[in-house]
Amino acid sequence: MRWSRAFIPTLRDDPADAEAVSHRLLVRAGYIRQLMSGVYSLLPAAFRVRAKIRKVIEEEIDRIGGQEFLLPALHPEEIWDETGRIEVMGAEMFRFVDRRGAGIVLGMTHEEIFTTLAQEITSYKQLPQLWYQIQTKLRDEPRPKSGLLRVREFTMKDSYSFDLDDAGLDEQFDAHFEAYSTIFRRLGMDAVAVEASSGAMGGSGSIEFMVSSPSGEDDVARCVNCGYAANVERATSQVSAIVDEPGPDAPEKFATPGVRTIEDLVTFPGGADADRQIKTLVYMIDGEPALVLLRGDHPLQEQKLADQTGAIEARPAHPEEINDLMGADAGSLGAVGVSDIRVIADQALEGRTNMTTGANENDFHIRGVDVARDISVDAWYDLREVQAGEPCVECGEPLEVFSAIECGHIFKLGVKYSEPLGATVLDENGKARPIVMGSYGIGLERNMAAIVETHHDDKGISWPVAVAPWEVVITVVKVGDEASMHAAEDLYAALQGAGVDVILDDRNERPGVKFNDAELVGIPYRITIGPRGLASGEAEFTTRATGATENVALADAAAKVTELVRAAR
Ligand SMILES: [Zn+2]
Repeated sequence: MRWSRAFIPTLRDDPADAEAVSHRLLVRAGYIRQLMSGVYSLLPAAFRVRAKIRKVIEEEIDRIGGQEFLLPALHPEEIWDETGRIEVMGAEMFRFVDRRGAGIVLGMTHEEIFTTLAQEITSYKQLPQLWYQIQTKLRDEPRPKSGLLRVREFTMKDSYSFDLDDAGLDEQFDAHFEAYSTIFRRLGMDAVAVEASSGAMGGSGSIEFMVSSPSGEDDVARCVNCGYAANVERATSQVSAIVDEPGPDAPEKFATPGVRTIEDLVTFPGGADADRQIKTLVYMIDGEPALVLLRGDHPLQEQKLADQTGAIEARPAHPEEINDLMGADAGSLGAVGVSDIRVIADQALEGRTNMTTGANENDFHIRGVDVARDISVDAWYDLREVQAGEPCVECGEPLEVFSAIECGHIFKLGVKYSEPLGATVLDENGKARPIVMGSYGIGLERNMAAIVETHHDDKGISWPVAVAPWEVVITVVKVGDEASMHAAEDLYAALQGAGVDVILDDRNERPGVKFNDAELVGIPYRITIGPRGLASGEAEFTTRATGATENVALADAAAKVTELVRAAR
């Protein structure tokens, strides 16, 4: 490619609306343009990066036996009805009615469609199978942001495994784990495998591959001592035992004028420390109210609440709903004596006595509460969100919590889809059994953004060679100089002949402009050809990642660069 013919619209300034580094740099370096909220056009340089990411993914999934499909983005609504996911996905799913009045949805994932195809597998002898596609997904994200990190239209590699039993699923799951680890290594990313919530996919187990980044929307708890790592949506930690002082025979109501928060009650005379209070929250769980109890100093992790209760939607009740239900405002709530509303409690409250909680009357609290004696708890769950510094659940060392980008997610689905959709096989005894499934996803553009998040500096992007749109740029300092252009053309041809992705910057621009563009766009290697070096048969060779520059003999330049590029691919 000649830069003079290329469409690489770099911008002098950062876009005003971009917070994430990858958003800012991909726009500024001429890779992407927003069409509307959460929807982006990929320009040629981005298309090249995406093609390389795609190739890495295809090679690794093919290596574990994947067969590539291409499924439609348009799905009949009924098929999503059969698994009940039309409700689970809710407003995130694009839906419309066609001219015949039939309900159509736009695919946000393809478990249902692949499982329908798997109905044609009839015998255990046809298993295992591993199917995948690289295809467009559409999700009506409530809050699209951060450029390619949170979008409404994107490309995903999604694979699906089909086995006779759990042992087969485990094998394919482990194969994906290895393949994903290799993919992220090849993409130049240090991805951490973490335990994750299965969320709307369901199933028995899931692992996310997380790349640490301040732009990440997930939080990961990790122990550097033993390697325990989990999404905070699922992470646990040890809770230090608290010795409660003996309390009264019955709870006592007392006046607490103006007290509305846990913190208020800590400082209120005759109040209680946060870890001796019961926090009472009201949640609407699939439309039904429930009281959710935690220790005063423990935050609720909402995804845990949804996962543990199996809820499609769990949301905090609105202030009016709380008042209607409890006769008091948030901040004065408690579960003592409550029997007509479901009460869900965090395990850290088990066995606690002499606690303080709200009285369901503004300006009053209750102390001396014995949880087992005074509160009728319907279900005990792990609901607490772990905090940095808490002891690791495995080894007791302090946990760290960092924000991260989810770059891949693998699920053990079991029979969640094969059962309702009737994908069964006859086993060796002639008995019909639902196929045991797994599903495995990687977002292509999200990974492009994650690579930028982890490979940039104040001059711009610094792509790993494996995914760079061009591996080498030949920068001609003075295009008017015939000898320079001649040497550059020779080198360009030699590198192309050697299979190197090379772009020749033959624009009639000042050298500074070309250098800045090459750094902003993030091309790993630059060979600069100018009249001065040419006089002694030399060119300048610069490595983008380190900024290191050396002189090389022009005659050796092609061989040197080819060797470097091949080693780094
Ligand atoms: Zn540990």
